[in-house]
Amino acid sequence: MLIVQKYGGTSVANAARIKAVAERVVRTAREGNKVVVVVSAMSGETDKLINLAHQVSANPKEREMDLLLSSGERVTSALTAMAIEELGCKATAFTGRQMGIITDKVHTRARIEKITADRAKKALADNYILVIAGFQGITETEEVTTLGRGGSDLSAVAIASALDADLCEIYTDVDGVYTTDPNIVPDARKLDKISFEEMIELASLGAKVLQTRSVEFAMKYEVPLVVRSSFNDNPGTLVTKEDKEMERVVVSGVAYDKNQTKITLTGVPDRPGIAATIFKRIADAGIIVDMIVQNVSIDGKEADISFTVPKTDSKKALKLTDEIARELSARGVAVREDISKISIVGVGMRTHSGVAARMFETLAKHGINIIMISTSEIKVSCIIDLKYTELAVRVLHETFELALK
Ligand code: ASP
Ligand code: MG
Repeated sequence: MLIVQKYGGTSVANAARIKAVAERVVRTAREGNKVVVVVSAMSGETDKLINLAHQVSANPKEREMDLLLSSGERVTSALTAMAIEELGCKATAFTGRQMGIITDKVHTRARIEKITADRAKKALADNYILVIAGFQGITETEEVTTLGRGGSDLSAVAIASALDADLCEIYTDVDGVYTTDPNIVPDARKLDKISFEEMIELASLGAKVLQTRSVEFAMKYEVPLVVRSSFNDNPGTLVTKEDKEMERVVVSGVAYDKNQTKITLTGVPDRPGIAATIFKRIADAGIIVDMIVQNVSIDGKEADISFTVPKTDSKKALKLTDEIARELSARGVAVREDISKISIVGVGMRTHSGVAARMFETLAKHGINIIMISTSEIKVSCIIDLKYTELAVRVLHETFELALK
């Protein structure tokens, strides 16, 4: 088999960890596999570099930022290749450029456009283990780019797809994907298997094991992923195409997101184009709106519009909304910071009814008020009071029987 193994920051945090990674890689190779390794920077390194940049400049240029940030993965890829050679296997380290990872020109959050893997294929044919610096690429004009935070997951998946690998293993410091945050629910269960779609929802809802974009890529190109720990030999969680078995489970996981602010515009005129105006302006400011609820008054003259934005953008969003309210002569603007979003996710919802009702009932039974609701085919999300987050996670985990049996 051709296996891509990606090791995250904690897995390559120091010399001892890098040697442990090398041992696992060599073991995998000696079992008769071709191995391509993708590494992150040592944990904390990227943050440290960002911090340094801000110490010397109030507004560092993104081009130089990318040169700087890509250095972290250069270090770990070179060290990992050395450690593998030390164990008697041939290994060679490649930068993003040497791997032929061609991206667009958007510095600090570039998209991969193609991978010209000729050199990598030749090295693999010559029985080298490849160690690729994750998170980085190069533009057509040879500018170094990075792929956004957590981007080495994406590097790994894209490389697995380009090389037509049989499996892409993502090594991290947890055993896999859990039914919910084990810090809140100690008997949360590790999932053996989860669908790409569920994983995308969970990742974008704040379950931090995988970068959302990497799962979207894996789903599109059908790259089977395994999330597992580099600290033990437990089997991990397989992220794969949906199958019949997955449908039998109604809810696969409970997620929460405390990074939410709700903004409400009251008494806006009810006529075509109003929502377009509001959300165009907010989108143009680069703010990502999550939930939107609109309610039109019975006489049909006015509407209230509520929406949520990431807490980190709430000041900017509020300022814009105030401007818009004045222009539209809306009645007012209200904001709530003390909220969180609780979600249940599961492909089984497509074929089971009454799932949302059970969620609402459970919250009601515990005196938790629902402020906003949104649903998709495989997800129900509720905005609730921030202080009930942990309680809501616990009771929903129980209602949908997600705990270890
Ligand atoms: N080192 C980069 C980061 O911290 C990329 C990664 O670890 O995936 O975001
Ligand atoms: Mg990561």
